[in-house]
Amino acid sequence: MTRFPINELRDIATPFYFYDLGLLDQTLAEVKRTSRDERFRVHYAIKANANPGILRRIQGAGLGVDAVSGGEIEAALEAGFPADKIVFAGVGKTDADIIVALQAEIGCFNVESEAELDVIDEIASAMGKKARVALRVNPNIDPHTHEYITTGLAENKFGINLPQLGGMIDRALDLPSIELIGLHFHIGSQITDFEPFIMLCQEINRIQTEIAARGVKISVINVGGGLGIDYADPDRHPIPDFEGYFKTFRNHLRLLPDQQVHFELGRSIVGQCGSLITRVIYVKEGTSKRFAIVDAGMTDLIRPALYHAHHKIENISDPHGDLHHYDVVGPVCESADIFGTDEMLPSIRRGDLLAIRSAGAYGEVMASQYNCRPLPSSYLHGK
Ligand SMILES: *Cc1c(COP(=O)(O)O)cnc(C)c1O
Repeated sequence: MTRFPINELRDIATPFYFYDLGLLDQTLAEVKRTSRDERFRVHYAIKANANPGILRRIQGAGLGVDAVSGGEIEAALEAGFPADKIVFAGVGKTDADIIVALQAEIGCFNVESEAELDVIDEIASAMGKKARVALRVNPNIDPHTHEYITTGLAENKFGINLPQLGGMIDRALDLPSIELIGLHFHIGSQITDFEPFIMLCQEINRIQTEIAARGVKISVINVGGGLGIDYADPDRHPIPDFEGYFKTFRNHLRLLPDQQVHFELGRSIVGQCGSLITRVIYVKEGTSKRFAIVDAGMTDLIRPALYHAHHKIENISDPHGDLHHYDVVGPVCESADIFGTDEMLPSIRRGDLLAIRSAGAYGEVMASQYNCRPLPSSYLHGK
């Protein structure tokens, strides 16, 4: 559980991201313990958080990286991740991205369309390289999560639809600078019950049986990421149920001899170790509501505005005051700039620090400068 060293934090310019490196290390240790299996490889989805201090920790734990842009590949290399442990996904890889990836000789491209496959082959041929490729298949599974983070349904921009897979496999085998090594799946994010993952395993088993007849050797099954975290009560579940997650795949995925399973976890690794720390600028009394106006806004943490996400809010300056209802709102000129309505919080005064919890994933990386606001800084605790 995260304890905020309030005396250290009081004088830091707000807003900033507070990272509990002790919790990150415990989380990484749990990932390693529960994924111990010579067939399993865990890649960290770097888009969740690319803070260099966080990346060094994750690299030190021996994980690989799942990148979705040339910039992310460069950030991963800079943090010391070996190129062969980097996989590259994304529907819109540019020529420049592909060149960066081929030059670095990354482990695998997760390819999402025939057009992309042809371009990678063309560029690789010109560079005298061979591109290792996994085909991203759209398994048409509904993970029961927010529509913006659902990625595996048929009418979705991601992946290859099942009826097209056979043709894509043939094409990949034909192209001279493509080496087909795997199949890739990713059904969505913030998935907290294991049922969709069981359905994914069953679908993969079915697909494997179907393509076995084609005589293709698939050595990697990449099951993507998506394991969710407890936003409502981060101190009760600071570390997600990795044991149950990996067990689900161990129990339900039928692997062929020598096949590896790749995982791409983002949120579950970094989500709970981060909090956005913000200072109360004003307490404003409305006619029926009381507002805590804080100096962080949707530019620092966009998840509430973008996904209607709710992050737990705490008054860390004065955790023991009398409870009152507050709407906690940011200063940005948008009605969506709200962190919480009718939050029951210990009495808030101007200058108090609030912690907006579970903000380690898709927080700092999504910050913008809308309203000419500066980007939030970060404070790594327990270095
Ligand atoms: C975003 C993404 C992930 C990570 O998702 P999480 O929900 O953060 O675990 C994994 N794979 C792909 C292809 C992604 O786009």
